[in-house]
Amino acid sequence: MGEAGEEPVVDLRLDRAHSARIYDYFLGGRTNFAADREAARRILSVFPAAGVACRMNRAFMHRAVGHLAREGLTQFLDIGTGIPTSPNLHEIVQGIRPAARIVYTDNDPIVLAHAAALLRGRPEGRTAYVQADIAVPGSVLAAPELHATLDLRHPVALTLNALLHFIPDDGRDRAHAVVEGLKAALPGGSALVITHGTSDFSPLAMGRVTDIYARAGTPLQLRSAAEFHRFFDGWELLEPGVTLAHRWRPGRPGDPGLPTAAEAACYAAIARKP
Ligand code: SAH
Repeated sequence: MGEAGEEPVVDLRLDRAHSARIYDYFLGGRTNFAADREAARRILSVFPAAGVACRMNRAFMHRAVGHLAREGLTQFLDIGTGIPTSPNLHEIVQGIRPAARIVYTDNDPIVLAHAAALLRGRPEGRTAYVQADIAVPGSVLAAPELHATLDLRHPVALTLNALLHFIPDDGRDRAHAVVEGLKAALPGGSALVITHGTSDFSPLAMGRVTDIYARAGTPLQLRSAAEFHRFFDGWELLEPGVTLAHRWRPGRPGDPGLPTAAEAACYAAIARKP
């Protein structure tokens, strides 16, 4: 807080629900406020598996970036990072490749306020945080922190997890344009990791979830399998291709308690640029 009479440096808009804080609530975190919890409870009343879906998404991220680090990738650009939730991406990746370099990006000031937890990486490696709205063309790719941390002449793993459904098209195909802009900036050998909410398996419940987000001030656009597939156009999907987040190379096959497709409600895939 500033001195009496000064504006706070960052207005966190705690009176409004925000996607990052709703997600934090679903993951069992503590960085959420009354408006977020109210929206989250409404979502749970129509989609009781919301917490499961978020945990499956997070667990996929762990497997996905672990896989890419083992494959030799050492540069990661994570957009829509979310409120830090350990293990964060850099903890997984630097656990395998200590010298790995990671750039995190989010547009929520509360993520910025907690970014210190994202910047405590291994001394051999490097992490940076860019506060930017990915829907603003060039906002991330032009950031000096990005170029001080990553060398875009060498392969980068670009991760867009549970982000793109917060970029509605508004009749202009915006989300695909954002992804194509990022893909074009990366060299051959780069990887693209995406997870994305879908209503393919439970249109009625997810339609109501979309309405609740809209009323909370956060437009949500769930996408179909075909729309999800299109984000990877021109790149080569890794096995098993487009699937549900929890079905992408599950760690322990036959684990009890794996959700149904309607509960997970989230597509996932990884592709490499030829
Ligand atoms: N990627 C994390 C968090 C997902 S929650 C995970 O999968 O675990 C979605 C995040 O996207 C939130 O933190 C939200 O603030 C961020 N976000 C939403 N719209 C964004 C935008 N236009 N630009 C950057 N970040 C955005």
